[in-house]
Amino acid sequence: MTAVSTEEKPRICLLYTGGTIGMIADEYGVLRPPKEASDFLKIAPELPDLADIEFEELMNKDSTNMVPADWTHIANAIYERRNEGYNGFVIAHGTDTMHFTSSALAFAFGSKLKFPVVLTGAQTIPAIYYGDARINLLRAVRVASENLAEVVISFGDYVFRGCRTQKKDERKFDAFESPAYYPIADITEKILFHPNARRKKDAEEGDLDLQADFADGIVQVGLIPGLEPALLEPLINGGKRCRGIVLQSFGAGNVPNGGDRPEERKYAFGDFIQSAVGKGIPIVITSQFPANSTLETKYAPGVAAVEAGAIATGNMTSAAATVKFRWVLAQVEREIRQGMTMERDRLSRVKWMMHHRYILEMD
Ligand code: ASP
Repeated sequence: MTAVSTEEKPRICLLYTGGTIGMIADEYGVLRPPKEASDFLKIAPELPDLADIEFEELMNKDSTNMVPADWTHIANAIYERRNEGYNGFVIAHGTDTMHFTSSALAFAFGSKLKFPVVLTGAQTIPAIYYGDARINLLRAVRVASENLAEVVISFGDYVFRGCRTQKKDERKFDAFESPAYYPIADITEKILFHPNARRKKDAEEGDLDLQADFADGIVQVGLIPGLEPALLEPLINGGKRCRGIVLQSFGAGNVPNGGDRPEERKYAFGDFIQSAVGKGIPIVITSQFPANSTLETKYAPGVAAVEAGAIATGNMTSAAATVKFRWVLAQVEREIRQGMTMERDRLSRVKWMMHHRYILEMD
């Protein structure tokens, strides 16, 4: 008897959104998106050997210009194609905001996601033959062909959980990291998955429950020594435009609460936090070092901020926390519109949802 290989090539939907991975250098050396995104497939002529690729240009942007409406657009595009028999989706994306988009897609799809959604990009344009555009694209297609059920970033030698990743380098090919969580796979000749990767069997039953709305009106303030909270007053006294504030803290959630001397009181954030919360503007605290949980800070300045009404964000990356904040605010507003949450419970509902773990975004 002759053995007949019945193995079929995986079908992959490749969604192009822009970024260095497809860019060309113009006559002045400025990197710009190509005029014809479909030329993109030419950067890796081997692609058809790996998978049957269906290509679609969703947008053609430097990811610096991505906004929450773009996340919604990408999520909807995948949602609409979810039953078309693809093994997985690859999204070609700029590196600058890839970790925001991957977090947004992870929240939008939730724990019923049953296929891989793989974002990738590059540090160099395709014209740099020894660069990473071609190889990252091929590797992402390999990862999207695997038994995986989550949103990930495939970059360099690693696959990271999308909602736990941040960019760490502007030039090196090893450009992303997952500071508080192991990579979920190593890319070698085979994709070596770690036991923590979510496989198809781990997905919750039922059709995707798409929640792809993200609130606007969020401001993030990175703390620096000597920042006077009075400078931020216009944010909370300026009408309804500002709907939430992110304070990116030092260490694990530490926010200045004033020194011992009276002249240092002006640097304390307690009154500012209280008055924002009193006006219905939630404040969340993220960390520049998300490996340590802001929910567990033992230092007085962190504890004081939470006592004043700020919401700690565990060990989420700063990107995941800000995206989740937009996602939570949009959902709470919808719940209020639909009468499922009372207006007076808005802030406590926001706090509950920020502390709830939806997609393994924190420990
Ligand atoms: N500015 C580019 C972008 O994010 C950078 C990159 O793709 O590496 O679209």
